[in-house]
Amino acid sequence: MSAQPLIQLDQVSKFYRHGENLQSVLRHISLNVNFGEFLAIMGPSGSGKSTLINIIGFLDTAYQGSYQFNGLDVQSLDEVTKAHYRNQQVGFVFQNFKLINELNLKENIILPLIYGGVSRKKALQQVEPMLTRVGLSGFGDRLPSELSGGQQQRVAIARALINQPAFLIADEPTGALDSATSKEIMQLFHDINLHDQTTVIIVTHDPNVAAQAKRVVHILDGEIVEDNRVHEI
Ligand code: ADP
Ligand code: MG
Repeated sequence: MSAQPLIQLDQVSKFYRHGENLQSVLRHISLNVNFGEFLAIMGPSGSGKSTLINIIGFLDTAYQGSYQFNGLDVQSLDEVTKAHYRNQQVGFVFQNFKLINELNLKENIILPLIYGGVSRKKALQQVEPMLTRVGLSGFGDRLPSELSGGQQQRVAIARALINQPAFLIADEPTGALDSATSKEIMQLFHDINLHDQTTVIIVTHDPNVAAQAKRVVHILDGEIVEDNRVHEI
C-alpha cells in the first residue's frame, strides 16, 4: 500500500451552460481514493454521479479544481497522454454493457488491447484466462445476444480488466439486472478488488448495491454530503 492516494480531487466544480443559465453540477468536490479501495458513489438520479466519474475516468477534462492521479496533475496532461490514461489506467463498465453485438466475446474483450497497439494474435492469447476469471470459460466464440444480461456484464468486466487498469469504474453496473444477478456481479467486483488489489468505484442509486461496498460516498445536488467506511479494510 502506498501512502499516496490513487485519486485526489480537490475542490472540483463543474458547470453546464443552458443558454443564458449556468447549471452547477458539481460543487467543490474533494475526494481521495486510495489504492485498493472498494467505493460506491451513491445518490439520486441527476445528482452528478456520472459527471463525477467521467472526470475521474479522464473522459471529461472541462472542470475547475485539481485532480491528481497517482501524484500527477491530470489537468496539465496533453491530449495524447490523457487518451493513453483512459486506455491503460481505467476500465469502464456501464449499465447497458456496451458490447458490440456483431463481434463475438473474444473480439469484444480484446478491443482495449487492440486500441493500445497490441497485435491480434497476442491479444487473443490473453482472452481465455480472462473468460475463466469472470466465470465464462469456453464461451469466447458466442455472440453477446446469446448470453443473459448478467453474462453480458461479465464480458464487459473482462473487457474492462484486460489492460490490467489501476482502477475500475462501473456506472450503475447492476441497473439492468435482477437482484440475484446483481449480487453475483457485486461478488465478482469484490473478487477483483480482493485478489488483484484493483481499485473499484461503483456508481449506484440503489442502497442495496452500495451496502456491498467498503466505503459509501453520498452525493446530492453535486455535493458530497456523507462519506462512510462500512468495513475497515
Ligand atoms: P447522475 O449520473 O447522478 O444521474 P449526471 O451526472 O448524469 O447525474 O447529471 C447531473 C446533472 O447534469 C443533471 O442535471 C444533468 O441534466 C446535467 N447534465 C449531464 N450531462 C450534461 C450535458 N452533457 N449537458 C448539459 N447538462 C448535462
Ligand atoms: Mg448517471
